[in-house]
Amino acid sequence: MFKNIVLAYDGSEFSLRALQRAKAIAERFEATLWLVHVFRNPSDLLGYTDFEKLYAKRKSAAQATLDDANQKLGRTTFPVKVELKEGHETELILKVAENCKADLIVMGTRGLGAVKGLLVGSVSRKVIHYAECPVMVVH
Ligand code: ATP
Ligand code: MG
Repeated sequence: MFKNIVLAYDGSEFSLRALQRAKAIAERFEATLWLVHVFRNPSDLLGYTDFEKLYAKRKSAAQATLDDANQKLGRTTFPVKVELKEGHETELILKVAENCKADLIVMGTRGLGAVKGLLVGSVSRKVIHYAECPVMVVH
């Protein structure tokens, strides 16, 4: 039923819970798990002297987030593909889902965003809206 599962991971508690769910489902269905993390290019700072440094910092933080997720997945009985993407979160999560012909996207209700009042974060809201496959949003 599930062959390709996309897990959107931002390092938050919510996405960690999503990781645990996605792992259990991938195990059960012997699916491939696509672990996706997106980081923003600090393009508004383009031209500033510190741009390169900031960019490198952001990229390595993003890589560390993925390494951390991989470590939290531990040993798996299913294949894991890691996707580090640069740009717009929703767009790129959906693009990975499209490219791998995902039959499920798993993500958290919220993420690292500071606005606690929101019931569902903006990335999740948009993915739910635009995805062409089922989306599991984990509390
Ligand atoms: P907002 O970003 O709107 O301020 P938020 O951070 O609380 O609010 P979202 O960003 O929508 O909420 O996060 C919900 C889920 O979306 C996360 O648990 C994670 O699964 C996924 N997600 C968010 N940001 C990223 C990202 N940069 N890369 C991959 N997945 C992400
Ligand atoms: Mg967010």
